[in-house]
Amino acid sequence: MSCLFCKIVAGEIPAKRVHEDDDLLAFEDINPQAPLHVLVIPKRHIPTLNEMSAADDALVGQLTRRAAAIAKERGFDGSGYRTVINCNRDAGQTVFHIHLHLLAGRSLGWPPG
Ligand code: 5GP
Ligand code: ZN
Repeated sequence: MSCLFCKIVAGEIPAKRVHEDDDLLAFEDINPQAPLHVLVIPKRHIPTLNEMSAADDALVGQLTRRAAAIAKERGFDGSGYRTVINCNRDAGQTVFHIHLHLLAGRSLGWPPG
């Protein structure tokens, strides 16, 4: 198993976990780009958004709603936050285990770079 995020799921690499359930893990990004920067991932290895199928619709909903719940827990539901899934080279994806970025705590520019 060579996937970094699968190793975090397995506990082989430490991470600051903020949520775990049967399907998902959420942990703090090691190189935060905002005061709150959490990654929400499925425990199951899925490389990119391109590999998501209709069978994963519930999982996509879980990822998104968990990010919203964490943002609310941290008090950012009113001020706002951003969720991002980068896919492949042009979006800057560097870890090929799908992850949803949750960013909050500062004004986030648009359009992204
Ligand atoms: P991507 O660029 O693929 O969308 O995002 C990958 C994210 O994973 C980056 O924000 C990066 O800082 C984060 N990351 C990379 N390696 C580690 C790690 O070992 N631990 C944690 N917690 N985050 C990591
Ligand atoms: Zn993986």
